[in-house]
Amino acid sequence: MTTPTDSTPSAAAAPKPTRIAPIVTPDAKDFWEAADREEFIGEKCSDCGRFRFPPRPMCPYCHSLKREYVKLSGYGTVHSWCMPRHPPPFGFREPPIVAVIQLQEGTRFVSNVVGVKLEDMKQDMAVEVIFEPTMGNHKVPVFKPRGQ
Ligand SMILES: [Zn+2]
Repeated sequence: MTTPTDSTPSAAAAPKPTRIAPIVTPDAKDFWEAADREEFIGEKCSDCGRFRFPPRPMCPYCHSLKREYVKLSGYGTVHSWCMPRHPPPFGFREPPIVAVIQLQEGTRFVSNVVGVKLEDMKQDMAVEVIFEPTMGNHKVPVFKPRGQ
C-alpha cells in the first residue's frame, strides 16, 4: 500500500492534464525522454550535418546511418496552421491550434501554438518552445509567441 507523497496545495490545485501522452517509437525514444526533462532536441546527421525530423535511422540526404542528438534553439516561425473543430479533438478542453513550425535549424515540426487566439495567428510569427504536461507524467513541446 502506498500513500500519495505530493500533497502540496499548488499540486492539488493544478488541473490534471488531459492531453494524451506521446506514443513513443524506438526511433523517437530519446526525443521524448528529453521532452520529459523539458529539453528540445533534434536528430542531426553525423556525416552531412543536416537536421531531420521525425527521427529515423537513415539520413534522407546522404543515406548515412550515423546520427546524433543535439539541443535545438527552440525558436522558429509559424509556417501554417489550422484549428480542428470537428470531431472534437480528444484530450483537449478547447480545440488546439495545430501548426507547422519552421525551426531555426531548418526542419519543420508539427505542434500546437498556445497563448494566442486563432484570429491573431500570423504567417512567419516568431515562436518559442515551451512544454505542456500530458497524462502519465510526460511532457510535449508546444510553441508560444516569442517573448510572451
Ligand atoms: Zn546526412
